[in-house]
Amino acid sequence: MSALDEKLIRDVVSEVMQRLGGAAAPAAATAPASACGCDARPRPSGGGIIVRSGRNGVFQDANEACAAAHDGFLQLREKGVAARAKVVEIVKTLAEANAEEWGRIELEETKIGRLDHKIEKLKIIKLVPGVEWLNPYARSGDHGITLEEYTPFGVVAAITPSTHSIPTLSGNIVNMVAAGNAVVFNPHPGAAKCAALAVSEYNKAIEREVGIRNLIAIIEHPTLDSFNAICRHEAVRLLCVTGGPGVVKAAMQSGKRAICAGPGNPPVLVDDTCCLKRAARDIIQGAAYDNNLLCIGEKEVFVLDSIADRLMQFMSENGAVKLNPAQLDRLTKAAFIFKEGQGAGCPHATVNRELVGKDAAVLAKAAGVDVRPDTQLLFAETDASHPFVQEEQMMPMLPIVRVKSVEEGIERSLQAEHNYKHTSIIHSHDVEHMTAMARALDTTLFVKNGPCMTGLGLGGEGYLSFSVATPTGEGITNPRTFTRTRRCVMVDNLRIY
Ligand code: NAD
Repeated sequence: MSALDEKLIRDVVSEVMQRLGGAAAPAAATAPASACGCDARPRPSGGGIIVRSGRNGVFQDANEACAAAHDGFLQLREKGVAARAKVVEIVKTLAEANAEEWGRIELEETKIGRLDHKIEKLKIIKLVPGVEWLNPYARSGDHGITLEEYTPFGVVAAITPSTHSIPTLSGNIVNMVAAGNAVVFNPHPGAAKCAALAVSEYNKAIEREVGIRNLIAIIEHPTLDSFNAICRHEAVRLLCVTGGPGVVKAAMQSGKRAICAGPGNPPVLVDDTCCLKRAARDIIQGAAYDNNLLCIGEKEVFVLDSIADRLMQFMSENGAVKLNPAQLDRLTKAAFIFKEGQGAGCPHATVNRELVGKDAAVLAKAAGVDVRPDTQLLFAETDASHPFVQEEQMMPMLPIVRVKSVEEGIERSLQAEHNYKHTSIIHSHDVEHMTAMARALDTTLFVKNGPCMTGLGLGGEGYLSFSVATPTGEGITNPRTFTRTRRCVMVDNLRIY
């Protein structure tokens, strides 16, 4: 039995004991009815079994979850901005305090990524901006004063990925509640238990310290049906999806406004003006992070032919392991699923989910080579049409492609990025090269001379979010992303000078 299962059972037993003792659970006793009139509270069913729907925000039913979140929104509205700030503080504090335990639980459930980085991604939730981002825009003049304020939507529905379940959920809560909203989550089915655990802990603390119930709701067993029911619910005013092409398409077809943090396949261009040693270190750091699960992570490298050998030499000296062509071929056959009749060189392959986010040592084994268990990254020379270049592989195996010129590197980067407009990276000290790549790729994040995570404030300037809204254009999401702008005008003789 996993630690998570044990914890859930402990919680259920303690609630049952509380009820058998005749004491009503304080949460149920004080909670107001939900907005649509349905009772979203935990209640005993026939035979004395507790119906768990609605326990600490964890719901079985999508409509109940949305209604309860709407009720949570109304409670938050009553309590004002101070309550929002307190919720933000609670989420940041709990994410940091529980980082080790929750990181381990998430890895145990999803079996993808690395424990050290799962923990780090929770510790850095404190870098996500909160209510301080909502300063109104004000104007005064001969005709009076005008104030533009950022106001909440109400209930935001958020879809979270398996790659960073609790971190995305926590960052979304900070942004969305800072903006005055309640949230209902339909998490990835493969990372739903850990997400429900975090929501439950956040809600317990929010109810205890702020007195709001069900500000955050989550579907315990998410499905496509629950996604559709959430999208249809009248209380849900805005969607925020973080995931691959399937969910982005589904959200955009839902008829609701959607903020979409979609897929990426970030190319890296390395020219002969950069510091090659630093570029090698940065590329390893970014591509190896959480076994390359980050949507912003380095997924393929285009390097000038004249410096390619030295770049790969520096990568080897920094602990990355180079595969030879035969090893690459074996790994490719294991890492991708090819349709019948397609060779291993075919770019239109499907990523084998069994190897997504696995350790470099596991990939090396599939390639037929033994490496140290702490090896962070594998790399291999490929051509530009190789599936490791063309697919968002999310594995710590980086393809390196030689190019004859910066122009060719930009062209191939553009092709490999597939117009996701997500992230691109250059290692160069030539401003012309930087500008040419920036213009050609037009990505939401463009990092120069650093690993990918500098684009989200880790070692670079800026703030953090795990939802980078790419196809819909909001960029690195922040509290303002989840607001409506409302103008208040007072026409009068208010000028005193
Ligand atoms: P995924 O697309 O498999 O799942 C994401 C979420 O969408 C899950 O909750 C899943 O259940 C749901 N979903 C999938 N298809 C759906 C559909 N047709 N209708 C409704 N819901 C659907 O993604 P994943 O493997 O968990 O995460 C990796 C992907 O997410 C990568 O493509 C990565 O680039 C992307 N991602 C993007 C960002 C960003 O900020 N842009 C951040 C993290 C991950």
